[in-house]
Order: sequence, then structure tokens, then C-alpha cells
Amino acid sequence: AEATDGDEKAAVRDYFNSTGFERWRKIYGSSNEVNRVQLDIRVGHAQTVEAALGMLRDAGPIAGTTICDAGCGTGSLSIPLARQGAIVLASDISAAMVSEAQQQAEAALSAELPNSPFQMPKFEVSDLESLNGSFDTVVCLDVLIHYPQEKADDMIAHLASLAKKRLLLSFAPKTLYFDFLKRVGELFPGPSKATRAYLHAERDVEEALRKVGWRIKNRGFISTQFYFAKLVEAVPIGSAA
Ligand code: SAM
Repeated sequence: AEATDGDEKAAVRDYFNSTGFERWRKIYGSSNEVNRVQLDIRVGHAQTVEAALGMLRDAGPIAGTTICDAGCGTGSLSIPLARQGAIVLASDISAAMVSEAQQQAEAALSAELPNSPFQMPKFEVSDLESLNGSFDTVVCLDVLIHYPQEKADDMIAHLASLAKKRLLLSFAPKTLYFDFLKRVGELFPGPSKATRAYLHAERDVEEALRKVGWRIKNRGFISTQFYFAKLVEAVPIGSAA
């Protein structure tokens, strides 16, 4: 039977509070207790984070801008953004992830804080559909993979409504992937793990953005052996930004 929306979201949340939390914390960390596939994904994901930071730097000064990192995971993006002076809201549906991100931020940043112009990210447990507020920039990296396109459309619309200037999204492209899913299926919530990772066609993402008045301004593609991501930077149609 098909899971209802609530069930699917609860399954994602439960996964990232338990098995998924342990797996992804290892992948996003620096310990050597990772297998070859996990190490490859670590490297690919780090490139996505670097590419996102590069796009944000190219768009103008990061210091002082308000940024929402939706689905922040262990803080891989939020921490370098805060270090560069952004005012960051780091939120995630998983309380375990948020608490890990907070600990990592404190370990990485607190020694630097007293005399520096930057501030700790604000941490919040929230699913991105319930986020509100208004930010210069909203970033959502490697989260859409947990949602089918019809739900991704609503998420994209909602994220765009929170952003004043730009929205960065990364997603697993609907190409190249059959093999990938079979190999790394264990990294996604069950029960039939390989069916619980969703790929997105770039044109569907582009269309979801267009419907709410946004256009893609920059694109990136990151690939390693087991990790593939498209990264897009979107801006409101008509904005010169
Ligand atoms: N964005 C982070 C990064 O790139 O380092 C983490 C990516 S990780 C593969 C996916 C994250 O999305 C997990 O931390 C998970 O808890 C979170 N997530 C999944 N569904 C979510 C939702 N509906 N709202 C907020 N976070 C969600």
C-alpha cells in the first residue's frame, strides 16, 4: 500500500534520528570508519558544499546576509557560512542532526567567537515545509532526494517564498542513477530502500521554480563514482542579482 504523506515524512524523520543519523554523520564527518562507497560520497558531498559556497561568494559579500540552511544535516554548510559572517538559521527535521550540527558548530566556532564579528548559527528542529521567515538566501542541499517530484514542487515553492534574493538547491539528477541506487540503497529510508530515494529531472525543478516566478541563473554538476548532484542557483525572474 502507498504511504500517506505523513507516513513518508515520519519515515524520513525516524530514519534520520536513528540508522540514517549514524550513517550520514559518519559520511559527513572525518573519521576513517567509512567504507569505500561512503568515502566516495563524502568526497562528492564536500564538492557540493564547496560549489554552493562558491556560488554564494560570486553573488556578493556573504558577511551580514541572512541565510536559511534548510535540512542542515550536521552543519557542513552552516558552519563555514557562519564563519564567513552570514546570519544563519540551520534547521532540520531530525533532532539528532540539529543537535550534532550545534555541537559541531560550537566545537568549530566558539573559540573564535568572542572578538569576531560573526555569530553562531541559530539551530531549529523543523521540517522545511513549516519554516517561516524571510531570508536573503535559502539553501537546501541534498534533501530533495527524499521527496517525489509532486512533493518536491511544493517544497521548492515554499523555499522560494522564504527567499528574497536567491535559492540554492541540489538534487540527484534523473540520469545515471539506476546503478547508483542499487549500490547505495542502504543510505535511504526503507522498507524498500532503493525505492525511497527520488531522482529529479532538472526541467521539473526548473518548471517548479518558473511557476512561482523564479529562474535558474547558475548550474553546477558534481559527480564522483557513487555521488551525483545537480546544483542550481535560482533568482526571482526579473531580478538582476
Ligand atoms: N543539507 C545537509 C548537507 O548537505 O550536508 C544534509 C543532507 S542529508 C542527505 C539530508 C538531510 O535532510 C537530513 O539531515 C534529513 O534529516 C533532512 N531532511 C529530510 N527531510 C526533511 C524535511 N522535510 N525537512 C527538513 N529536513 C529534512
